[in-house]
Amino acid sequence: MEINSSLMGYFYLISSGCKIIFLLDLPAKERVSKKYMKKIEITAENKCSFCPGTKCCQYVTQQIDSPRKKDDFQLMLWQIAHKNVEFYKDEDGWFLMFITPCEQLQEDGACGIYNERPNICREYSNDYCEYDSPAEEGFERYFRTYEELLVYCRQRFKKWDKKLKKMEKTS
Ligand code: SF4
Ligand code: SF4
Repeated sequence: MEINSSLMGYFYLISSGCKIIFLLDLPAKERVSKKYMKKIEITAENKCSFCPGTKCCQYVTQQIDSPRKKDDFQLMLWQIAHKNVEFYKDEDGWFLMFITPCEQLQEDGACGIYNERPNICREYSNDYCEYDSPAEEGFERYFRTYEELLVYCRQRFKKWDKKLKKMEKTS
């Protein structure tokens, strides 16, 4: 499975172990308290402790072949018609994204399987991640809904609706 490199950084959680230490050391209310945050410098070592919702554990991505034909987009339309399914394209290509939190994520933001967490979670640093800027800033295209993708299909294929009407007549 290939994972978008820009997003992989968000799966940091965490080779250094700093997150666990900080999460356990700080009460949940303190971790999100702006007042508290003003008192402490955010560094790579403590950043995850302040990350609201532990952003990088809230979705999975899967790279797909670049869609070229109408049939490719028809398949994508079916997929994105489902809840919490999105698509984006960045410098690495096209990706299917499921907005779904990891079931191992604990209420306090810690990883419930920290010692055996998957490699993708170990290998990435939080030097620059979603805490610093939204992932979509690196997207060339981003489709969050069926309607958004359909608009793109109609722009890309001038005869998009014509073909559909033809199919309706023959069905
Ligand atoms: S700070 Fe970055 S790496 Fe850490 S939990 Fe938040 S998004 Fe993930
Ligand atoms: S396994 Fe742990 S670090 Fe990886 S996504 Fe799930 S909660 Fe986050």
